[in-house]
Amino acid sequence: MSSVIPSSRDWMYKRLTQNRALIPEFIVGVMGFVEYASGRDEYRRNNNTMRCPCEKCKCKKLWKSSEEVAIDLMEYGFMPDYYVWRCHGEGDVSISTMTLRISEV
Ligand SMILES: [Zn+2]
Repeated sequence: MSSVIPSSRDWMYKRLTQNRALIPEFIVGVMGFVEYASGRDEYRRNNNTMRCPCEKCKCKKLWKSSEEVAIDLMEYGFMPDYYVWRCHGEGDVSISTMTLRISEV
């Protein structure tokens, strides 16, 4: 079963142009992600660090500051299938609830 990709997360896996330059939408998206994640209580509770969802750290290794996470994401991109920001307070539940509401209409 593959997860539904919200169109608002479309930018996440479009990181580089054919010339291997960063796509502006990706940079804006990463900034938005970092802003969202660092605004959470969890970030403050953990001494201003968060799990890094980049391809290398995969939300598992070191906790990093928002600046470090932004740099990692631009360097490595997001880990696969991270359309739902599970390590940063979002649940699959909220997305399936959304889908349910749409199908009820
Ligand atoms: Zn990382």
